[in-house]
Order: sequence, then structure tokens, then C-alpha cells
Amino acid sequence: MSFAEWILISALVVEFVLRVLLEVREVRRMNGKLDRFTFFRILPIVNDVFPAEANFTSDHGGAFVNAHEKAHAELHHGIVRRSLQGGFALLCVLTLGAAGVYLRFNLVELLLLFHLIFAVAKLGFHMICFAEEYEADFVAAKRVQRGVAIRALESLLLKEFPRTSLFAYVYRTHPTAQMRLGRISRTCKKSLR
Ligand SMILES: [Zn+2]
Repeated sequence: MSFAEWILISALVVEFVLRVLLEVREVRRMNGKLDRFTFFRILPIVNDVFPAEANFTSDHGGAFVNAHEKAHAELHHGIVRRSLQGGFALLCVLTLGAAGVYLRFNLVELLLLFHLIFAVAKLGFHMICFAEEYEADFVAAKRVQRGVAIRALESLLLKEFPRTSLFAYVYRTHPTAQMRLGRISRTCKKSLR
């Protein structure tokens, strides 16, 4: 086995262990049981094709949700996300191309390298998404009144599968309803009074 393969496989093992630890922590702190997607999340490569946990999927609208979506459009969040995805694709092509040409990585090594870049990039992407979600919540809450916003998020909290903040950063593009409620209470307190 080449030195590069040792590095790549060691990184995969570390990733696997960290993901298992995160699942254990999640079970202990939040819901007391594993959910049916745990297996897909902990397996490297498999988790690349597994979609992020969604939010607002079963919501039929309401003043706050509509104002939130409108704020996303006005703040051009969709364009920001697509630009980031485009930038990531370019970064991957350049990095994998360089690894193939200069380090002579074979296809399996390139796949593993892609997976590792993707796993790290997803964390950064989720953080930017979270900032956008908080921003859209803030704008929406100003438009519909804070009480309406808080009630909408409280109703979402009841429907949502409970997650810790750390889990949300790793696997979701939306903060949990609990995180959003906390943020809206803090940021809107002064400006909406
Ligand atoms: Zn949103």
C-alpha cells in the first residue's frame, strides 16, 4: 500500500469513528434511540449520496414561513448557495486533477480524496446555510411580528425530530427549530421591542 493510501484510509477511519461517536452522543442527549438512517450517515462514501436532513418539508405555509421564503429570495440566498456549489465543483476538479497528474493517484485514491474534501466542504456549506436561515428568520420576524414567528417555530419544534446543534451542523442545511427559536429570541429582542 502506498503512503498516500495509508493517509487516505487513516482519514476514513478517523471520520468513521467520529461519526459513530456523534451518533452515540445524539442518542444519549436527544431521543434515546437510533433512527433508520444512522447506518447511511456513518459509512464513508455512502454518506456522500445521502441527502441533508430537511426542514419545513411538511409545512404548508403560514405568514412566517412565507415571509421567510420571501426573505431568502430578496437576499439572493439561492444564488449564494449555487455559487458556493459551483466553486466547490471547480476546487474539486483542480485538486483531483493535480492529485492525478502530480501524485499519480489512481481512481480509488481519487474517489477517497473527493470524499474527504466533500465531507469537510459540507461542514462549511452548512455553516453558511445556517447564517442565511437566521438572516431570513430575522427579516421575516420583523415583518410578521415576533410573536407570530415564535409560534411558527414552536409549532415546527413539535413536528421536528429532535437533534443537537452539533448534529445539525454536520447533517443539516437548516438549524433546528430549537436553535432558530434561541437565535430569534436573542437577536430580535431589542430591534422588535
Ligand atoms: Zn430557509
